[in-house]
Amino acid sequence: MTANLLDFDAEGLTAWFAQQGEKPFRARQVLRWIHQRGEGDFNAMTDIAKSLREKLPALAAVSPPPTVSDKLSDDGTRKFLFDVGNHNAVETVFIPEDDRGTLCVSSQAGCALECAFCSTGRQGFNRNLNTAEIIGQLWQANRALGFQPGGERIISNVVLMGMGEPLANFDNLLPALRLMLDDNAYGLSRRRVTVSTSGIVPAMDRLSESCPVALAVSLHAATDGLRDKLVPINRKYPLAELMAACQRYLVHAPRDFITFEYVMLDGINDSDADARALLHLVRDVPCKFNLIPFNPFPDSGFHRSPAERVRRFAAILISGGIVTTTRKTRGDDIDAACGQLAGKVQDKSRRLMRKPPTTTAGVEFQL
Ligand code: SAH
Ligand code: SF4
Repeated sequence: MTANLLDFDAEGLTAWFAQQGEKPFRARQVLRWIHQRGEGDFNAMTDIAKSLREKLPALAAVSPPPTVSDKLSDDGTRKFLFDVGNHNAVETVFIPEDDRGTLCVSSQAGCALECAFCSTGRQGFNRNLNTAEIIGQLWQANRALGFQPGGERIISNVVLMGMGEPLANFDNLLPALRLMLDDNAYGLSRRRVTVSTSGIVPAMDRLSESCPVALAVSLHAATDGLRDKLVPINRKYPLAELMAACQRYLVHAPRDFITFEYVMLDGINDSDADARALLHLVRDVPCKFNLIPFNPFPDSGFHRSPAERVRRFAAILISGGIVTTTRKTRGDDIDAACGQLAGKVQDKSRRLMRKPPTTTAGVEFQL
């Protein structure tokens, strides 16, 4: 069986080359060709001994998930759809801003966590992406976007905020994160790589120990009662445990704050009292808030909070001393906004058979 070299971080590639009787510097050379220069053809790797170049194609390949579609939004946001086999496809979104270019990467085909307001969660779950499929999204997007005239990469930041829960796929995620940080690969600083989690507490601790990058936690509610409904993983890891895990994370984190994401759902979690309860909840966690106006999808049963409500909510957090930003909705003309990523998922969790999609919030939310 040929190896897919996108599956390996530096250590893995060195071990693989050693198995072929090759020296570690060969692995480093090939790593650079693949990730720094986006090269997938061994023959084009001109500074590698010809004998090795001739031997490699029989043993290995560079196989990213193939691009199914590539759409450009009016605001410059670009959405890629990648085929990950067996009729599953995942989405990756590039968001250009004045001072940076952010790639939003998927970690799973679907998601098993069933957050009530999330289109990916609604679709069910098929499987974890492997390392090659995670880093392959960055590899493909880098090739599509190219370099700036000065030789700088267009993609300066990566966020694991696409489809899936990254910390539920820890073992495959870790080598991909290491490649993002590796100077022989993408060379991004830890502050420019952000993992977003719905709050899988033991995996937050593992990440802090093995590869501390910037962390965003999807909070969405100030009380366990509401969060149990909106983010069901809260029943396993309730708010007090989550807050303690955030404090532990900060010991090794590259930034001295946690980013809390908070989707603004009209009439559900957006009252003044909710904002004040949040101030109390996070009193011991250095943090920033990122408010995300809810992005609708068919039959979601939720509505976006009015802009004035979001402003008032933000004002209460800010007056409590918390830096608060409101996320601009980007790319919604191509369904690329947060929570709208759907890709294509062959649900294995049989969720849709267990629970048909709700058409009104009232069905699922008796608040
Ligand atoms: N599974 C991870 C990362 C992917 S979701 C997590 O939950 O953190 C990225 C962000 O988009 C999360 O904060 C998520 O709660 C938010 N989100 C999900 N659905 C949304 C929607 N319909 N509108 C706005 N934000 C949404
Ligand atoms: Fe999964 Fe995140 Fe969506 Fe929740 S919000 S269902 S954890 S992708």
